[in-house]
Amino acid sequence: MKGVPLFVHIAIKVSLFFAALLLSWTAAFYLTAAIYSRVGWEPHGLFALIVNAMLGFLIFGFGAAILGRFIRSKEHVFWTELIEAIRRISRGDFHVNIEQSFGEPNGRQRKKHPLHQLVDSINDMAANLKAMEELRQEFISNVSHEIGTPLTSIRGFARALKDDRLDPEQRQRYLTVIEEECARLSKLSDNLLKLAVLDSDRHPFHPAPYRLDKQLTAVILACEPQWEAKNIDMDVYAEAVDIVADEMLMSQVWVNLVHNAVKFTPEGGKISVFLARKGDRAVVRVADTGPGIADADLPRIFERFYKADKSRTRSAGGSGLGLSIAKKIADMHRGSISVRSRPGEGTEFTVALPLRQGK
Ligand code: ADP
Repeated sequence: MKGVPLFVHIAIKVSLFFAALLLSWTAAFYLTAAIYSRVGWEPHGLFALIVNAMLGFLIFGFGAAILGRFIRSKEHVFWTELIEAIRRISRGDFHVNIEQSFGEPNGRQRKKHPLHQLVDSINDMAANLKAMEELRQEFISNVSHEIGTPLTSIRGFARALKDDRLDPEQRQRYLTVIEEECARLSKLSDNLLKLAVLDSDRHPFHPAPYRLDKQLTAVILACEPQWEAKNIDMDVYAEAVDIVADEMLMSQVWVNLVHNAVKFTPEGGKISVFLARKGDRAVVRVADTGPGIADADLPRIFERFYKADKSRTRSAGGSGLGLSIAKKIADMHRGSISVRSRPGEGTEFTVALPLRQGK
């Protein structure tokens, strides 16, 4: 009855009430008349009127009680279903979808009636919790997998080292693998911790002014041993750019991008790092001449644990968290990170950051 003025609403209800009363009295009148004629008695007018009125009220009350019970039982079913759904959600069962069984409204009303809004909200809540639970389980299975693989390898090589017949060269090789796998685990735990802290609202976010070009140069110099060892030609162009950002967090972004570039660029390849101001943004590009990323993988590389080329990434020792951390930090700064790549031609990451952090 939504959309109908209140006075019409009340008028309809009052009319229905009187119609029901009239019907009850009419029924009582014919019933008593039938009884009197059957017993062959003609009562006094006043007596007949009183009996008729009483019986009329009785029929009216009886009808109202039956109708009320029917309405209440529908209402009861609705609330029971609702309470049961909330109980199931609280027990961790998110496969809940309450049917709109109570006074199913038509299209326009559906949006407005608070009870239907309540049902929709509970259904939405269950669907969101279910999606979060699926993400959590996927996260746990990814972490277990990332921990399990190096552990199996460490265990295997440690067992092999027990063999006294191993020559020193083999022994050295096995120890190197164990050392690398331990470093992998340690990096994984570092990254997991970083993500957990970034995800929580507890992370301190301290934007302060600093020179972005100096930070980039420092990061590139810090990993010089790695790119030097691979004979990589490092080409840097950095304008002097003052920025207001969280220096520690941003350093993590550059480290992840430059490390990836070094990791994926083959011997004798080239890495270009570019920084310039563009309007009210600082734009950083890190490009390499590595193997590139397939089109199908590009939209997913910022997802946690996503590795585009599993075999290559495994030998390179990644866990698929570096880019998701970089994206998280860029988002925290209200910046963006994007990628362009062609298999066989290299990859270019672009980070755009506002020069100032608004309030
Ligand atoms: P990882 O620690 O595995 O490198 P990232 O999140 O940093 O994790 O990267 C995700 C995936 O994106 C990598 O596994 C790799 O397949 C791909 N990738 C990232 N950077 C590059 C790059 N410069 N060249 C080619 N592939 C890259």
